[in-house]
Amino acid sequence: MESQKQYPRTYSFEFFPPNTPEGQEKLRATTRQLAQLNPKFFSVTYGAGGSTRERTLGTVLDIREMGHAAAPHISCVASTRENIREWLQRYKDNGIKHLVALRGDLPSGLAAAGEFRYANELVEYTRKEFGDHFMIEVAAYPETHPQAKSAQDDLLAFKRKVDAGANSAITQYFYNADAYYRFVDECEAMNIRVPIVPGIMPIGRFSQLARFSDACGAEIPRWMRKKLEGYGDDTASIRAFGLDVVTALCDDLLQHGAPGLHFYSLNQAGLTTTIWQRLGL
Ligand code: FAD
Repeated sequence: MESQKQYPRTYSFEFFPPNTPEGQEKLRATTRQLAQLNPKFFSVTYGAGGSTRERTLGTVLDIREMGHAAAPHISCVASTRENIREWLQRYKDNGIKHLVALRGDLPSGLAAAGEFRYANELVEYTRKEFGDHFMIEVAAYPETHPQAKSAQDDLLAFKRKVDAGANSAITQYFYNADAYYRFVDECEAMNIRVPIVPGIMPIGRFSQLARFSDACGAEIPRWMRKKLEGYGDDTASIRAFGLDVVTALCDDLLQHGAPGLHFYSLNQAGLTTTIWQRLGL
């Protein structure tokens, strides 16, 4: 963890672009609440294949209009170089200088025809076409991306993204802090020199979390799963347990020198704010 201690701590909150006017209004209220915590930026996800791109940009501009920094995500799966160039140009024309570059996932069953195979190609292309205009964040997987051939291959894939010009990384969420510490140490040994900010998923509902985790390869440790399953429909107990576990995880990460936290806030302010207050940030 030594190399991570040199970076200033960065706190950020992730949203998805709402698809109704009510959702938009609610997100404004969430933004106002979370902005009081003074994050470095908000980030807004991007549907694979560009399905949300207008709304992603609209949400970023909305947050900026409210006076806060916001970074759009962009994913390259099923896109042509021309699509991506055009969209990066729109980001640039709108004064955006910070983005999260991903490969993305297509809904199962759809073929991923496109000119980019992996996120390192997107980072390389962005640098080639736009030089140093954008600060680029990429994804990292302390518990290994589910499609990786091996943990070592996944580390090499992460290194390629950094070598292609990524400035910083945000991890997939995890509940095993040791997986993150080991991952960071391995990156350090491979001379990967960027901040690797842990992604934090607050726990609100167990069924949703279990579904997400199965899809993205994030492990819910057995002891947590058993507890959460045992609460059944008792959402108050799930939230109370989740707040305890996630606050302790964040505390441990910061004490070990993590360079900040990125909360998957899912357009809600409550859990993130409570964790934040308990951490005394
Ligand atoms: P990559 O880095 O390209 O890796 C994908 C897989 O390919 C890995 O298994 C890797 O090991 C493997 N790989 C890489 N290079 C090679 C190679 N040369 N040969 C063989 N295998 C290789 N998804 C969205 O659709 N929209 C979002 O807004 C979004 N935001 C996210 C934000 C964060 C912080 C994170 C962690 C994930 C996000 N995702 C998002 C999900 C992400 O798109 C998926 O996890 C996706 O499956 C991988 O994206 P990536 O950019 O990490 O891909």
